[in-house]
Amino acid sequence: MEDSYRDKGLRKKMVEQVKACGINDQAVLEALSNVPRHAFLDKAFKETAYENRAFSIGEGQTISQPYTVAYQTQMLEIKHGDKVLEIGTGSGYQAAVLAEMGAKVYTLERIKKLYERTQPLLKALGYKQIRCFHADGFEGLPGLAPFDKIIITAAAPEIPDTLLQQLAINGIMIVPFGEGSTQKMIRIIRKSANTFEREELEDFSFVPMLKGKTDKV
Ligand code: SAH
Repeated sequence: MEDSYRDKGLRKKMVEQVKACGINDQAVLEALSNVPRHAFLDKAFKETAYENRAFSIGEGQTISQPYTVAYQTQMLEIKHGDKVLEIGTGSGYQAAVLAEMGAKVYTLERIKKLYERTQPLLKALGYKQIRCFHADGFEGLPGLAPFDKIIITAAAPEIPDTLLQQLAINGIMIVPFGEGSTQKMIRIIRKSANTFEREELEDFSFVPMLKGKTDKV
């Protein structure tokens, strides 16, 4: 994968913009500086890959805006070695940012075509600590739970109890919640087996989280 001086320069500017939007966690900014975002986009977007906006990745899906990726990552308070469950692999960019922060990432994608594209890409880019699954995020990964952190990167019509049950005690979940054109970002901390603390954050706009997986290739 080519990562030219130009790409690096554009990436630096992107990180400055994200910082100007209010992201101040140095580890998050560093992770954004390390991930070659252009590698996660179609060549047609190469010139614009580092603009602070979302892009189409095919199948009606998008790669989130860098600010959104940084925001969700910052809210998760990632520590080295954290076991993180991501719902909505999409392009793999968010998973790569989490891996750069030292997390072990388990990422689920319901659309087979995206899973089949992204899984080898992450491998080729050297992200050994990311495991991809073609699976329905509403189910999570019960066999590998508990997770220290859970991140949902699609608009959730409900907060799946199945996922809350897969969160470790003191674990953090971040989820864009709501079915309209915008969602409220919600952060949940599991205080004990039966106690969850819930905090409402800013508004964002995500593609919907849908039930079941598709085999369309
Ligand atoms: N994190 C991604 C963002 C992708 S957009 C990135 O960095 O590029 C959201 C993704 O969630 C889409 O690819 C969509 O297919 C997927 N998705 C939606 N509902 C899902 C579900 N129930 N399980 C798994 N993936 C889901």
